[in-house]
Amino acid sequence: MVNSGDTIFGRILRGEIPCDQVYGDDLCMAFRDVNPQAPVHVLVIPREPIAHLGETGPEHQLLLGHLLLVAAKVARQEGLESWRTVINSGAEAGQAVFHLHVHVIGGRALAWPPG
Ligand code: AMP
Repeated sequence: MVNSGDTIFGRILRGEIPCDQVYGDDLCMAFRDVNPQAPVHVLVIPREPIAHLGETGPEHQLLLGHLLLVAAKVARQEGLESWRTVINSGAEAGQAVFHLHVHVIGGRALAWPPG
C-alpha cells in the first residue's frame, strides 16, 4: 500500500498545518476545501493514510461506509438538501492529493456530466 502520510492531508491530520474543521471522530475528519468549487465544499478524509480507493480492500468496508455516512452528516449540518459526493481516484481522474478523500459539494446547481 502506498503510504500517503506525507501528503498535505497527512500534515493536516497531524495538526502541522491548519484547516477549517467541520467534523471529526476516531476514524475521520472533515474540513473545508481551501479552493471551494461551490458555496459548500468539504473534504472527508480517513485518519488512516490510504492513497486512494484503489488501495482499499474488504478490511476497509466499515471505514468506507463510515466516510459516506459522515459525508451525509456534514451535508445536513451545512443545511444542504442536494449535494454531490466525489471521490477522484488516480491522477487522470483529477486526484491531486494522494490521501483518500470524499468531496461534499453543494449550495448551487451542479452540472452533469462532469468534465
Ligand atoms: P483532488 O483533486 O480530488 O485530489 O482534491 C484535492 C482537494 O484538496 C482540492 O479540491 C484542493 O483544493 C484541496 N486542498 C488542497 N490543499 C488543501 C488544504 N491545505 N486545505 C484544504 N483543502 C485543500
